[in-house]
Amino acid sequence: MAWLKAGNAQCSHPPTGVARPARLVLLGAPGVGKGTQAELLSERLGACHLSTGDVFRAAKSNCNGNQSAALKQALDYMRQGQLVPDTTVLAMVKERTACLHCRGGFLLDGFPRTVAQAEALSELLRSEGLALDGVVSYELPLEEVVARLSGRRTCSACKAVFHVSARPPVKEGICDHCGGPLYQREDDRPESIRVRMEAYENSTAPLAHYYRREGILFAIPAQGSPEEIFARTVVALQACLR
Ligand code: AMP
Repeated sequence: MAWLKAGNAQCSHPPTGVARPARLVLLGAPGVGKGTQAELLSERLGACHLSTGDVFRAAKSNCNGNQSAALKQALDYMRQGQLVPDTTVLAMVKERTACLHCRGGFLLDGFPRTVAQAEALSELLRSEGLALDGVVSYELPLEEVVARLSGRRTCSACKAVFHVSARPPVKEGICDHCGGPLYQREDDRPESIRVRMEAYENSTAPLAHYYRREGILFAIPAQGSPEEIFARTVVALQACLR
């Protein structure tokens, strides 16, 4: 809640009984399953799942005429599958700095997405006296990514994610968890997928090299079920969360 709304919004699920905060970045192409892994990791570690894409989608569905010019422009970029300009994204993250201090830590999903954003995040964390424990990079061949994205369906109420063939809901078009209607994200349509994959290859893929040089990158093969990918992630993270 605090992450989606910023301002004076209060955290709706402050973590309890967390032994130590886990501060992680999740990398990977759109559709690779970062969001699902973030939810599973969030349950396991008590860390808050912070997705910049969720902030933009929340702003979009909240269209009450109060959107700033920068936000309107950001939503246009998003609709076309393009990256939102770094300055807009960074301003949005800075407004939410309090979430980086979450007692359970954080799982950044979809941010950083460019080397400039990664440098700005390092600077922000340094100035807040925080450090990243690790960066998990989920890796999958391009054809599989495109197949996952084009079949993805999201619940408009609780945001649960399904797939028309790999993870279908019991009742077509209806969320298994809350009964909400499922929809296809505008940027999961074929014309946007192509643009998003280009943006990923050009801007986001170099981030893995950036964090590998820093010595905190954990590359995880993203084939298989969410549970199998999660098990690999937990094993890989044991080293850095000890
Ligand atoms: P996601 O849900 O992470 O795939 O994000 C959906 C869309 O939001 C992206 O295609 C971008 O248009 C925008 N977006 C989210 N996070 C960022 C970011 N860190 N930098 C630039 N654009 C972003």
